[in-house]
Amino acid sequence: MNNSKCPLCNSPKTKFFVKSKDYFMLNGNSPDFHIHYCDSCKNCFSIPFMTNEELSTYYPDDYDCYKSSNKFLGVLQKLKSYNDVRIIKKALPVSGKKILEIGAGSGLFLSFLKNEHYDVDGVEPSKSGVNYAKEKFNIDITMAYFEDYEFRKKYDMIIMFHVLEHFIDPISILRIINNHLNKNGLLFIKVPRTDSWSAKLLGKYWTGYDLPRHRFHFSKKGLIGLLKKNNYSIVLFKGDFGPLDTVRAIKYYSLFSKNKFKKTFFKILNSLPHIIKLFLSIILEIIMYPFKSGRMSIIAQKISNEK
Ligand SMILES: [Zn+2]
Repeated sequence: MNNSKCPLCNSPKTKFFVKSKDYFMLNGNSPDFHIHYCDSCKNCFSIPFMTNEELSTYYPDDYDCYKSSNKFLGVLQKLKSYNDVRIIKKALPVSGKKILEIGAGSGLFLSFLKNEHYDVDGVEPSKSGVNYAKEKFNIDITMAYFEDYEFRKKYDMIIMFHVLEHFIDPISILRIINNHLNKNGLLFIKVPRTDSWSAKLLGKYWTGYDLPRHRFHFSKKGLIGLLKKNNYSIVLFKGDFGPLDTVRAIKYYSLFSKNKFKKTFFKILNSLPHIIKLFLSIILEIIMYPFKSGRMSIIAQKISNEK
């Protein structure tokens, strides 16, 4: 187990990092999953490393990070999206540019970009997401897994929010994207960050691991290294919030902690109203922001060889 080769760089210099379960979907009623750290590329990977078929049983029909039942969370999500649109407008100022979102969910983020007069396309495997995007925003999203997606054009920007960590072969995905970006085209990517304060503090209960659905777990150094190795330069790096991470970890500690003191403490915390927990979590995120946030945003630019 301790000598598993890194699927990203093939290095044998890997070691055990953390053990966790499927807390997010199965409430801890799953086998143990392991995460190993690669000392060569500074990224982590999940063990067992599952095939798509094996992993499909761990995806419920409505696995979709964009839908929010809570009003306050919905507002927060919108604020985050507005900020991302602002970042995109700065990086890609001319309207009418072509943008593709991989894992477009229910099309909400694409609808904001469409309003800014970008020419948008999306690809998304969930039928409910695709239908919602058509009905609510009149956006045609292609229903497919990205691995099966047939490109019809090249793009000025490709967006991938919390998607790269799910793929079986992220390197081939980065190469496909690179081949379908226009000259100096941009890749806007977000993933959880393993060398963040929240990963360190929340340990195996950190939602960023989302085992076994996340096959890879990236550090800042590791992801930047991976992008540079695959013909991208880094245009922007920024920390990003995951306000539910702490709320969920409080619940998991209150349910599963073996330490009596911790369990009681988190049970009391967990009994607070959801909105209070969310508020406390946001305050914590703001205070800890300078110390490596739980999620990271990167804009990378295709290095074009053409003159
Ligand atoms: Zn590696």
